[in-house]
Formats: sequence, structure tokens, C-alpha cells
Amino acid sequence: MSVSDYQLIEAWKEVLTLSRLEAGQTVTILTGPTTHPQTLACALIATQAMGAVVNRLDLPPVNGEKAFSRDPLAYLGTTPLTGNLPAIAALKASHLVLDLMTLLFSPEQHEILKGGTKILLAVEPPEVLMRMVPSLADRARVLAAAQQISVAREMRVTSSAGTSLACPLGEFGPTAEYGFVDEPGRWDHWPSGFALTYPNDCAAHGTIVIDRGDILLPQKHYVSEPIVLTIEDGYATRIEGGVDASLLGDYMQTFMDREGYAVSHIGWGLQPRARWSTLGLYDREATIGMDARAFEGNFLFSLGPNNEGGGRRTTACHIDVPLRHCTVMLDDEIVVRNGRVTDTAVTTS
Ligand code: FE
Repeated sequence: MSVSDYQLIEAWKEVLTLSRLEAGQTVTILTGPTTHPQTLACALIATQAMGAVVNRLDLPPVNGEKAFSRDPLAYLGTTPLTGNLPAIAALKASHLVLDLMTLLFSPEQHEILKGGTKILLAVEPPEVLMRMVPSLADRARVLAAAQQISVAREMRVTSSAGTSLACPLGEFGPTAEYGFVDEPGRWDHWPSGFALTYPNDCAAHGTIVIDRGDILLPQKHYVSEPIVLTIEDGYATRIEGGVDASLLGDYMQTFMDREGYAVSHIGWGLQPRARWSTLGLYDREATIGMDARAFEGNFLFSLGPNNEGGGRRTTACHIDVPLRHCTVMLDDEIVVRNGRVTDTAVTTS
């Protein structure tokens, strides 16, 4: 269902207020060929209504000829900012960047953040943004989970489907994604609602079973038969199963890069307004799948780079996989039991 411009402008104002936008500050709205026109138009009005000095920076796409998927998260590394010094300078000179284009996992993004600029990514369709307008409660919950991660030495994940994964922790800090940017140099994504970290380099080991109904991203596909990943020394060394396993394996081979098989971010979903089933209601190119990443109680693991978390691994390949019905332990504490978060009575499924 569509949403009205008025609704979306009000939602933007709420997110910008949570992000502590003040009159007189400079906002640059980053756009590209896939930017949603209503999201852009309403962001322009909301930022001006709040007294900001507003710019728009529209950049041409890159990597289309290399990527095998049209998903903006399917091919990482170089971005329209790579080697684009005037564009980088404009973003660094801004208090806030609204990224309606998708700048994830790029060194240029790190450089801009380091200077204190905040970046908020918002590329999901307007009705998804509206449904998941972030709140202070989201922030508190995600930060509490990140705090738990920060003191843990190991994350263990099990499931009745056969997952048994051990991830030593400590090398990389936690990341809290709660949907707004209230601190200088902060990056976040509206919508989101999860906490994550990265296993110590080359240390994750065990077995991950992607079971029926679990989701592959960027494939945006509900798996119909189990895929078994063998994880050794931090890498998926075997991908076994039926057609779904072959499809995943063939896609990953297109990158011709061993680093794409490394275990990347690991964490769990904490967003009660995100739903497992939503992805099935959308055309695949209409969403990047944030419902799938954020729904409450999923164990979200990924394969690919860890530079976003402070590591040295870069690769163009990145697969996100939300698993249902897992039990997640931080040291001896269960934080998700059989797909249900243990921190609160708030449950929606
Ligand atoms: Fe990811």
C-alpha cells in the first residue's frame, strides 16, 4: 500500500529529530538511479522544514557490468565515490548525509565518518520505512544487546536443524543498528534493529544448516531444502545440499574470490515490527530485505568482508542469511532460545 507524502515527511522529521538534526546544519542527500522519488522528495521537504541547509548529490552507478544481481548490496567494494574527490569533500563537509543510494562497505564511507559526519542509509520502499520508524526503545534494546556482545568471549549457535557453530569473539567490537544517527561519526540504517559483531579472524568453526524457510540474501529466496555449510578456520569450506545449495555455490563462484567464503557479521534480530514473511510479498527488486535481516529472534550470519567491523578483509561477495529457530549463546548466557529473544517479554510471533 502506498503512503502519503504527509506521512512520510512526518516520519522523516521523527527520524531526523532522533538524529539530533539542528537548524543551520548541513544535510547532503546522496542519490542514484534507484533512489525512490517519494523518499527523496519527502526528505528534501523534511530537512528544509527543520531549518537545515540542504544539498542533493546525484551520482552515476558503478559495477553494473560486473554484478550478477541488481541488488545494491550484491557487489561491494568500489562505489560511485571511489576516486571522486569533489563528492567525498562535499559529504565530509556535511553534518549529516542521507544515503538514498547505498554506500555500504566502502573505504570512502569510513573516511567520511571519521571526520564526524553522520550517515543514515534509507533505501527500503516508503511503506517499509513508515512501518519501521525507529524509536528510543529500539535503541535501548539494541544497545543492551551490543553491550552483552562487547564482554563476551564466544558466540555459540545451535539448532534442531543441525547448526552447531562456535565463534570466538574479542578481536572486533559490537555494532548496534537501531535506525538513526544520534552521535557524530555514526552510521546507521533505517529500518534496522539488530546487534552484531564479527568472529575473530579465521576462528569460526562448526556447521551451519540453512533450513527450509530460512532466507538467502541477495537471492531473496526462502530455502526449500536444507543447505549444509561446513565452517573451518573461519571459512565455509563446503556447501552441500540440493538445488538451493548448488544455486548458492554457483553464485558465490562468480566472484572468484576465496575471501567471499569467510564468516562475516554474526548477530541477532531485535525488531518486532520486522517480519520473516514480508519478503514473500515483494518483488525481489522492490526491497533489499531489511525485514528479513531484522525480524525478532533470527540469527543473522553472513559471508564476506569484515572491513566494516574493523577487519582487513575486503571482497565484492556478501551473503546475508537470517536463520529461524536457533539458540544463540554468549559465553554461558542464552540470548536467543529457539528463535525467541530472551531479553524481554516483547514477542510478536
Ligand atoms: Fe550483511
